[in-house]
Parts: sequence; structure tokens; C-alpha cells
Amino acid sequence: MALTIRNSHPVRHNAAFGWACRQYLDQQKRLTSSPGYSRLRGPDRRRRAFTTSIRSPASHRVLVVGGGPAGCTTAYFLAKAGLDVTVIERSVRSPYGQGLDITNQAVEVVKRMGLLDTIKANMTGETGFALLDDTGRRIGSLLGTNAAQYESVENDELPSFTNEIEIMRGTLNEILADAAKQEGVKFRYGCTITNLRQYIDCVSATLSDNKQAEDYMAIIGADGVGSLVAKLVFPEGMLKNSLDPTNTFAAYFSMDLDKVDQMSYSRLQHGGGGRAIWVRPIDRQGTRASGYFITTTPTSTELEKLSASLTSGTQQQEKMAQLYADMGGIKDVVVQGMRKSDDWHFTRLVQVKLPTWHIGRCALVGDAAYCPTPLTGQGTSMALMGAYILAGELAANPTNPGAAFAEYKRKFDPYVKEEGMIPLGGRAPNIFVPQSRLAVWALRQLYSGFSNGYGKGLFKFLNSGKKDEDKFRLPMYKFKA
Ligand SMILES: Cc1cc2nc3c(=O)[nH]c(=O)nc-3n(C[C@H](O)[C@H](O)[C@H](O)COP(=O)(O)OP(=O)(O)OC[C@H]3O[C@@H](n4cnc5c(N)ncnc54)[C@H](O)[C@@H]3O)c2cc1C
Repeated sequence: MALTIRNSHPVRHNAAFGWACRQYLDQQKRLTSSPGYSRLRGPDRRRRAFTTSIRSPASHRVLVVGGGPAGCTTAYFLAKAGLDVTVIERSVRSPYGQGLDITNQAVEVVKRMGLLDTIKANMTGETGFALLDDTGRRIGSLLGTNAAQYESVENDELPSFTNEIEIMRGTLNEILADAAKQEGVKFRYGCTITNLRQYIDCVSATLSDNKQAEDYMAIIGADGVGSLVAKLVFPEGMLKNSLDPTNTFAAYFSMDLDKVDQMSYSRLQHGGGGRAIWVRPIDRQGTRASGYFITTTPTSTELEKLSASLTSGTQQQEKMAQLYADMGGIKDVVVQGMRKSDDWHFTRLVQVKLPTWHIGRCALVGDAAYCPTPLTGQGTSMALMGAYILAGELAANPTNPGAAFAEYKRKFDPYVKEEGMIPLGGRAPNIFVPQSRLAVWALRQLYSGFSNGYGKGLFKFLNSGKKDEDKFRLPMYKFKA
């Protein structure tokens, strides 16, 4: 990334960027202390500050790269605040993916978007969870009835592993994108960014659809793990250290089920050797389901090769079929479903940990900045909450995006650090998808007791800590109606 001052040569950031920022701040200081400036109010004041700076202003235009949950939510709130927002999304097919959870203060975010009822009306309707034995039979009783079907998750009569809001990624994304469009956000699908240059008072992006440079007052990278915006803006060394791969690999896809296999609850079957198969209903009847192969591995070399992008989906599927071949129970149904699926996805789960979430006028949000992996169940919730705070700060301070972005990190970072951790000191995947048959046996004993009697007490105990709203209070922003 180069920071460019018009009519001069591009210069590398860091020292140059610091110099440019100081020049800009000095200029702003001179401007704001001038008698004429202090008499101006609102947009006039903003325009005056920009027009006297080096490059012509992009004033209130914001580009959001990535139309996933984080991108759509950021765009929605920025547009609500009166900014002119464009989202570019590289995908042209309708968004896919499997079930996502919306928990904690993210529920409050969708409430503030006026979308809670729509989202609740479109949930998968998963009613609970069952652990299966090697033959595919249920161990103990069915755990829970989806708390979301009731008024409150605090209903302690109903222990459940199923979260308050479980929704398919595609469905959620359509709801969020529609809400953003209604606020006037423009979407350009099949489009990405090919070049990016930061100036003192704007950032210029070349987009792949019209191949022209366009000026924006800020660019938000909501483009997920391996963010291209981050690659164009952040120093290489910082990015290299930001990816923290786990030893868990996940394959997921959608499949139709025969009547006999249709269930309204999710089912998990262990295979030992760090293997588990999970089936979750997509609709309320369970006619369609998500299939997952979850593999934890102490030596990940072979699976690492598999997850590399050059390996084809068919090869990955064959490897999964081989790896799980000795299992019985629901395995055959899931392997059959995998072979017919058209949305196969296989990946190593990777956390993103960056020391800063912005450089100049470019900031990251959601998985691009702080992907916690699905192992935490927090990815979407953190994306929605972060998007809300980022938009709130930028809307409150549009003339100084750098300061707004710094404030976004200051406010949200403690939550990310706390909730973005993989449970049990990072050991949760190895404990819940164990290697040894003895550990699988122990898990089944525990589950059986838990679901048949001790469940309620233990569940209450596990939930007896601080309430989420006490741990983190979502800031209140005034977005213009
Ligand atoms: C296809 C897909 C399926 C997923 N399925 C699941 C799932 O089943 N379960 C789960 O827990 N999590 C899933 N996730 C991840 C989950 O959506 C995120 O963890 C979470 O919702 C945070 O959202 P996000 O918007 O930050 O990132 P993402 O959801 O990753 O969204 C990023 C968006 O940016 C777009 N994008 C990426 N690069 C560019 C670019 N260069 N230019 C323009 N657009 C770009 C992507 O197409 C995507 O729409 C999936 C993500 C994707 C992309």
C-alpha cells in the first residue's frame, strides 16, 4: 500500500503515513482555530475542512468490501446515518453456508435494526440436540427444546445446546442486505477491489467491474478471513502473524434427507480418532439438513494439504469418505448427502488476531479483523456487534475516520479478547472431538447423566455467571432516521 500525496511520488506508509497525518492534523488545527471555521456548523463546517485539503473530497462516500453479515450491517447503519454507502461483493451466486448463531448483545443489534421478528420468523427451528452411539441410536434423552420457541432464553426449565437464534447464513444475509438496500445502500455483485491508495483526505479504490479509480472518505474491509483489504493496506509482517490456525478442520454442506432420517433436532456421532459427524436440520421438519465432518488432528499435514485451495472438492470429499469409512450409524446417510451436495466447503479453522484494525482511512470488521472461528459460536455475533460499533463511531466522527476507528477498537477489543477465545484454553475441540475411544466412552456417559437428570442443575450452574449485558454494554448511537 502506498500513501500518495498528489503531484508527488507514492511513498511507503509508516514514517510517511505518520508525517502525512501530522501535516493533516496541523492543517485541521489551524483550520478549526480560525475565526471563520468556528462560525460554520454541520455540513458546511465539514465541507470547509475538506475543500482546503490536498485532494478533492469524497466527503461522505464509504465503500464496504464484502457483503456478508459484517458488511451488510456496517452498510445499513452508515446509510442510516446519512452516508452514501456502496457494498461490493465478489460472489454472484446467492449467499450460502450453514447455520449461524446470533447470541448475546448481537440480538440487541438486530433489534435496533428492527429485524428481530423477521429473523425469528426465518430460523431453522432446530429443537434440540442428541448424542448418538456407534449405531446411530440416541444416548439418553433429547437435550432441550429450542429456547427460542419460548419467550426467554432464561427459561430454566429448558436446558438446550441450541442457541436462541439459529439461522442459515444465506437467509440471514438476505435479510441484512435487504435492510441495507432499503436504507439506500448500493450493492455491486461480482465485484472486488483491484487497487487501493490512501490520500490525506480520501482513499481511492479501483473496482473490478468498471476498472476506474473512485474516491471514498473511508473503506471498510468486511471481506472475511484472508481479507484482501487487509492485504492491500496492512504491513505484510503484521498480517503474517495475524493468522492463528487451530487443529480443527470442518467440512460442511447441505443435503436432502429421506423421511426416515428427518429429525427436527441436531445429532452428533463420535468416531474416535478425532472424528465427529454432525447433522443439523435446515428447516422445521428436517427435510433438508446440514452435514458436517469435524476432524481434530494432532498431525495436520495431510489435512493441511487438503484444505489448500488447489485441491478439488471431489478429492476432499473422497478423503472424507475414506477417513470416516469405518463408522456406522448416520455416516452412510451423510456420505451419500455429501456426494450429491452443491455447496461443499472444507476448511481449516483459523483465528484472526490483529494488533490494530485500521490504518489511515481503511478499517476491518468481522472475521477480517477478529475471526474467532465457529468453535466459539461467536463469529456472527461479533461481526454484528463490531459492525454496529464501527458504524456508530464513524457516523459520530466522519471528518476523522482514523480517530473513529481507534475508538471502535478501544470500545470493542475487550469483548473480542474475552469472547473470541476458544473455550477451555483452546482445548475444547480436542475434548469434545477426542482421539481415544476411552474419551468417547466418557463423553457418552457424561452426556447420558446430563440429559437424564443432572442436566438442569448443571446447566443452571454453567449459566450462573455474569449476564452478557453486564459483561458488555452496547454503546448507544444516534443514527439519523
Ligand atoms: C460462503 C460462506 C459460508 C459460510 N458458512 C458458515 C457456516 O456454515 N457456519 C459458520 O459458523 N460460519 C460460516 N461462515 C462464516 C460466517 O459467515 C462468519 O464467521 C461470520 O458471519 C462473520 O461474517 P463476516 O461478514 O465478517 O465474514 P464472511 O461471512 O466471511 O463474509 C465475507 C464476505 O466478503 C466477501 N468477500 C471476500 N473477499 C472479497 C473481495 N476480495 N471482494 C469482495 N467481496 C469479498 C465474501 O464473498 C463474503 O460474502 C461462512 C462464510 C462464507 C463466506
